[in-house]
Parts: sequence; structure tokens; C-alpha cells
Amino acid sequence: MTRMQSQIEVPAGVHLPIYMDNQATCPLDPRVLEAMMPCLTTRFGNPASRSHSFGWEAEQAVETARAQAAQLIGATPQEMVFTSGATESNNLALKGVAEANRKRGNHIVTQATEHRAVLDVCRRLEKFGFRITYLPVKADGLVDPEEVKRALGAETILVSIMAANNEIGALQPIGAIGRICREKGVLFHSDAAQAVGKVPIDVNADGIDLLSLSGHKIYGPKGVGALYVRRRSPRVAITARVDGGGHERGLRSGTLNVPGIVGLGKACAIARVEMEAESARLGALRGRLQATLQGGLDGVCVNGSMESRLPGNLNMSFFGVEAESLMMAVSNVALSSGSACTSAAHEPSHVLRALGLDDKTAHCSIRFGLGRFNTEVEVDYVAARVVSAVKRLRELVPRDEAAKSSMELAGERVRRRG
Ligand SMILES: *Cc1c(COP(=O)(O)O)cnc(C)c1O
Repeated sequence: MTRMQSQIEVPAGVHLPIYMDNQATCPLDPRVLEAMMPCLTTRFGNPASRSHSFGWEAEQAVETARAQAAQLIGATPQEMVFTSGATESNNLALKGVAEANRKRGNHIVTQATEHRAVLDVCRRLEKFGFRITYLPVKADGLVDPEEVKRALGAETILVSIMAANNEIGALQPIGAIGRICREKGVLFHSDAAQAVGKVPIDVNADGIDLLSLSGHKIYGPKGVGALYVRRRSPRVAITARVDGGGHERGLRSGTLNVPGIVGLGKACAIARVEMEAESARLGALRGRLQATLQGGLDGVCVNGSMESRLPGNLNMSFFGVEAESLMMAVSNVALSSGSACTSAAHEPSHVLRALGLDDKTAHCSIRFGLGRFNTEVEVDYVAARVVSAVKRLRELVPRDEAAKSSMELAGERVRRRG
């Protein structure tokens, strides 16, 4: 195994293991932890307690967080429902709209590269008699808004299109889709777990009626999220998934996760202030990583659009090198193949397949997820490690020239289409 270990020296300022999987989850920002600490210790009250200061304090903390989350997406605080994360928010949005609008229609439009937390909900709704249209994406991972328009019919009650993809970072044209939905009087939900706090989103400018977000994708805690539900023009009706004490305007019962909610709020407040500078920094780091990988290796291609993409995301296929082997060779760098959720299943990613990649190429794909705490020295070190590992692994297996050129052609096609 010594041959497989890198001869590349670990530079000063780099501590192993390196975390570069920020689309799976983000580390907690220390400022978020600081904001949460009082709620975990002395300020432990239940915000539903109306008879003493412990309850009032907790309620105040929750309402501050609600305003912080709302402000990040251009919503009003009354439109935010706290949940356990984006998975629950997606369930509440889709099933809630479906149940509340059953009499109006039974058709929902979504697209092939959604997160499982949307696709699996759609599968469930199909069992209950809803008809789902799964739109294809172009080779660059983007949905054509005209296709959305064509898919709408008299029975359509909801369009659900994610803002940013978790595997390839593709930023969908949600503004254009929102306008189409508004024109046709169809509700528009967006799973924005990856986009919120990374790229500007405004529910009014983008015509969004429901939006899911998650704490741990924006340097907040796990197990907390929110669903934005529009209250004005139109007022969106949804039914609850969890009944109980009538918390969150009856839309999500259960004692509020005060530390989590406070952390989510703080994470949103930080993102609002720092998003622009952070995006510029991550975009530059991503460019540096991509340039080193493409400069140092042939037989590579980038998956997904480079023009409309999350700044911290890079997804690349390395011809002839299985993602699993590559990750093993750089085992003290946290990278991922496919999404965290599907990689356990060992199936090729449904996202990469939707781009038109064959299984073999999909199995050679790696996601680099750069985040707030990654540094330039880390990026340079990881790039060097990957280049050297790919070269070494390729020496071990005979190369299939035909497959290599077909993969390069596929990459070229995506680049030209943008
Ligand atoms: C992570 C993620 C989810 C799930 O969010 P949880 O808060 O972990 O439930 C849903 N959609 C997208 C796009 C994600 O990236």
C-alpha cells in the first residue's frame, strides 16, 4: 500500500483529514454555536409557555430566528414554518399542497435531477392517485422553462423544481419558471437547500410560493430547517403532516427545537452579510481546483453547466478510474461520488444519468464540495493528490481508448451547450 500513499508532502496549514464535501453537510460555524449555547444551558424554556419569563425568552429567540430566516429570502416572518430539515419541508410542501388542492387537480410537475426528498415524495403521491411529470434536463443539467410551460395543464396544481442541485451544483432558472407558474396560476415550490445562503434568492422576485431550506447546508445545525409558505397573492393553502399542539400556526406541531432554530437563524444572518464575498472566494478556489485537475490530466470532463452553477461545486469524471478507488487513494480527503444519500446504495447517480452519462462514466465521477472553511493551500494539496492518484491508478489498468474519447466528446458537448 505504500505505493498508493501519496509522496506529496502535507504543507503547513493543512490538517488532515480535509473536509471537502460541503454539499453533503457543512461544519457548524463557531458563531452559530455561540448563538445556540444559551438555549442549551440557561435559556432552556419552552416558547409555548406563556406564564413565565423562561417561555417568553425562548419565544423571543425563536421569533428573532424567524425574522433572520425570512429576511434571507425576502419573505415575512409569518411565512416561515420551522421543521426538522429540508426533507420534512419538502414533504410538507408537496403532500400539503396535494391534499389541500385535491379538488382542483391531481397533476404535479417536477424534474429528473431532484433530491430524493422530492422524488420519493412524488412516488408516494403517485400511489395516492396523483399524476407526476418528471421533466428531463439538458446535457448541462438545466431544465428548459419552455418544457415546464408545455407540461402545465388544467389539472396541474404544483410545479416543484430545485434551485440548486446537490451533486452537480446546477442552478435552475427558477425566476423564469416562477414567472411561467404565476402566469398560469400554478403554485411553485423550490427545494432550495443548496441555494439558500449561497446565491441570491428572493421569493417575490423569483415567483416562489413555497421554499424548503435546511440548517446544516448553511453552516447551521442538523435536524432543523424551514418551509416558506406564501401568505399573500396568492395565499397558499397546505395541510399539516404532523398534528398535535397546533404549533407553527397548526402546520407543524411539536415543541420547537429552540437551539436548532436559533442556530438556523444565526446561520441565515451570517449568510446574508457574507454571501457575496464568500461566493467570489469559493468561485475562485473552484476555478483553481478545476484548472489544476484539467491541466494535470487528460481524459477528464466536468459534469453540469459551468455557467449556471453553485460557486463551491465541482463534479468531474476521471476516465478509467472508479470513484471508489480514487476516494480510497485520497482517503484523508473527504470527497464524494454521487450524493451522500444515494452513494450508500452503490447505484450510479440518477443525476448523472439524467445528464446522459453512461453508467461507466457515472461511476468515475467525483464531487468536490468547497465550503466556508476550505483554504487555498487545501485546494492545491487536494488537486495535487488527485492528479497523482489518477495517474497511478491509470497505470494499474489498461486504457480503453474508444471509451476515453467518447467521454471527452460528451464533456465537449456539454461545454459547447453551456
Ligand atoms: C440536503 C438536501 C436535502 C435534505 O435536507 P435535510 O435537512 O438533510 O433533510 C434536500 N434537498 C437538497 C437539495 C439537499 O441538498
